[in-house]
Amino acid sequence: MPELPELDAAVDQLRAHLLGHRLERFDVTAFSVLKTAQPDHASMVGREITEIGRRGKFLLVGAEGRFAVVHLALAGWLRLGQAPAGTPAPTAGPLAVRMVIGDGTALDITEQGRRKSVALWISDRPDELEKIQRLGPESDSIALEEFTDLLDGTSSRLKTVLTDQTVMAGVGNAWSDEILHRARLSPFATASRLDPEQVQALFTALQGVLGDVRTALEGVPLDRVKRTKKSLFAVHGRTGQPCPVCGGTVAEVSYADRSLQYCPACQTGGKRLSDRRMDRFLR
Ligand SMILES: [Zn+2]
Repeated sequence: MPELPELDAAVDQLRAHLLGHRLERFDVTAFSVLKTAQPDHASMVGREITEIGRRGKFLLVGAEGRFAVVHLALAGWLRLGQAPAGTPAPTAGPLAVRMVIGDGTALDITEQGRRKSVALWISDRPDELEKIQRLGPESDSIALEEFTDLLDGTSSRLKTVLTDQTVMAGVGNAWSDEILHRARLSPFATASRLDPEQVQALFTALQGVLGDVRTALEGVPLDRVKRTKKSLFAVHGRTGQPCPVCGGTVAEVSYADRSLQYCPACQTGGKRLSDRRMDRFLR
């Protein structure tokens, strides 16, 4: 799932290509994607693209006061290129949404598979959409004091706290694994029980990981962002491989419909956590 730093990299590129151009076509080829009936997405056609931004894991494309709000879900991504002629037919292909601007550039929102989880809202007041209203503060701009209060106030596990978008927005499954690894903290540690040093370590890791990824993705073309992202992982998705910090073996815990990776030597004093225990913890 695209998280905060990948979306910020995408926002930079979309701004460079789309800002100041008039929207000439707005095709929704997978109608399940569209979550609002009014205003009609077609009502954005003819308007100039005036704003492109991000809130949490949502992408916002604004045209003279009206916004397309996009959530890329687990497997959605973006593609910029020259628009082919004609209106795309609804198909089982990856294309879910296509926006074409005056110079013929198309922004495609794609997701593999017939069932699309990508979501699109059209709104003049995006900050009033329920999904946006529920978001916590942005993970990359939260202050240490606020972060400390936030951890103090919950008995949830760190993995849950970092990925719960209502607590803080932008970090998902991948970067939370990396942040916890850099902070040398267990994903299963209870947030409110961290000592001040651990809180500081987690805060530093949060800012450090997000900042490093942001730098690494600067100027990387959209079609290479996923690959570059993967190359930055120390533990995420690297079960059984050596930890780049200590050389120990990266371990995995599966729970519900996903999994997390961690280095037992770096993060849990060598202890391996069982799947069943995790499932209960993270519920
Ligand atoms: Zn390690």
